[in-house]
Amino acid sequence: MRSSEATRIYFDRAADELDLSAGIRRQLLGAKREVQVQIPVELDSGEVATYVGYRVQHNDARGPMKGGLRYHPQVDLDEVRGLAALMTWKTAVVNLPYGGAKGGIALDPTKLSRRELERVTRRFVDAIHDLFGPDVDIPAPDMGTTAEVMAWIMNQYDKYHGFSPACVTGKPIDYHGIPGREEATGRGVGALTLKLLSRLGRRIPGTRVAIQGFGNVGTHTAKFLHDAECTLVAVSDADGGFHRADGLDVLACLRHAREHGGRLAGFTGGEPLTNAELLAIDCDVLIPAALGGVLTKANAATVKAPIVVEAANAPIEPDADAIFDERGIVVAPDILVNAGGVTASYFEWVQNRQHYQWGVARVYQELDRVLGEAFEQVWQLSTSRKVPLRTAAYMVGVGRVARATILGGTA
Ligand code: NAD
Repeated sequence: MRSSEATRIYFDRAADELDLSAGIRRQLLGAKREVQVQIPVELDSGEVATYVGYRVQHNDARGPMKGGLRYHPQVDLDEVRGLAALMTWKTAVVNLPYGGAKGGIALDPTKLSRRELERVTRRFVDAIHDLFGPDVDIPAPDMGTTAEVMAWIMNQYDKYHGFSPACVTGKPIDYHGIPGREEATGRGVGALTLKLLSRLGRRIPGTRVAIQGFGNVGTHTAKFLHDAECTLVAVSDADGGFHRADGLDVLACLRHAREHGGRLAGFTGGEPLTNAELLAIDCDVLIPAALGGVLTKANAATVKAPIVVEAANAPIEPDADAIFDERGIVVAPDILVNAGGVTASYFEWVQNRQHYQWGVARVYQELDRVLGEAFEQVWQLSTSRKVPLRTAAYMVGVGRVARATILGGTA
C-alpha cells in the first residue's frame, strides 16, 4: 500500500472521531498547489538530460508550508502528494506554525556527478523560485538530498531574491545551518521512547531495544537510548544485522559503522541475524528506523515486542497496525515520534530570520520541550478518548488544521 493511502485511512479515522463535516474534509484533503516542471540539464558528457521535478504545497492554514525535497528514481506526483499531506499533520501535531509540503526530482543521485547534481538543483530552483521562500514554503533535505544540496538551493534562490537563508533548512553549519539539527530526529525518537516507557510504568535502565536501520535516525536513536542505560539487543542495516541477548556494545557498533562507510557488515561483537529475524526478536521496544512498509499483515503476528516506535515514516501498514492494536502492542506513531527533524528545521528558520545563533544546548532544550508537550497532549487524548496513540496524534494534528481553516474563513 502506498503511504498516501495509509495516511488517508488514518485521516478518515481522526476526522470521524472529530466529527468533521464533508466540506472541511474535502478542503483538508486537497492540495493548495501542485507544481510539475521540466528540468533540462547538460551532463558532464555534453549530452542534455531532462528530469521532472515536483513540489506539492498541501496546506498553509497554520503558516508557511514545510517539507523535504527527495531525489529518487521513483519520485512521482502521487507519492509527493501523500508525503505533503503527511507533513501538514506532522507540523500540526507538534504545534509548529507551519503547513505541509513535499517535493522531489525523479533521478538517481548516485548516478550523477556532484557537478551534475548541482546543475539539476540550480535549474530546479530557477523553475520554481517564485513559488517558495521564507514566508511561503521552505524545503529541507529528504531521501537522496544533503546539506550541500540545501546550500545550492539557498545560493540560487539568493540570486533572484537577495540574502534569504530562511528559504530552506538543513543547510551546512558553516552555511547558515545550525548545530543540533543532524541528530534531532534520533534524539526525538529516543526522548519520546523514554516518555512512553515512563507513562507505561516501565523501568528505563535495562530496557531491551532492537533497531532496524543504522543511518542518521537509527544511530542517533541508539546513542540516545544507550546514554539512558537501555540495552541494544539487535541492530541492522540494508545488509542484515547483529544481535546479543545481554546487549551489544553500542559505541563499538557506531565506531564500526563510522569506519566502514556507514555499514555494519563485518561487525564481530554479536551474532548475525536477518532483517526479518530482527523484527521478530524478543525485546521490549522495536524501533523500525529504515524503510516504510516493513511490518505487514504477513509478519505482524511474529512481533514479540510489546512496544513499537515508528522512527521511519510509515513502517507499519494499516493491516499490521490493526493486528498490533488487537494484540495490545503499543505503537508510537511516526507523525509524533520522528517530528524532531522538522522541529529542529523550524529552529534553524527562526534563527535565520532573527540573524541570531542559539547554540546547541538551547536547541536541545527547545526540542525536548516541543516534543514533550506534543507527547503529553497525544497521550492525554489517547487516554481520555480510549483511542490508540496514532488516532490521537492525527486527531491533534487534523483538529488544529481544521480549526485554523474554519477560523480563516472562506469569504
Ligand atoms: P539513512 O539513509 O541515513 O539510513 C537508512 C538506514 O536504513 C541505513 O542504515 C540503511 O542501510 C538501512 N536500510 C536500507 N534498506 C534497508 C532494508 N531493506 N532493511 C533494513 N535496513 C535498511 O536514512 P535516515 O535519515 O536515517 O531515515 C530513516 C527513516 O526515517 C526513513 O524512513 C526516513 O523517511 C525517516 N525519517 C528521517 C528523518 C531525518 O531527519 N533523517 C526525519 C523523519 C523521518
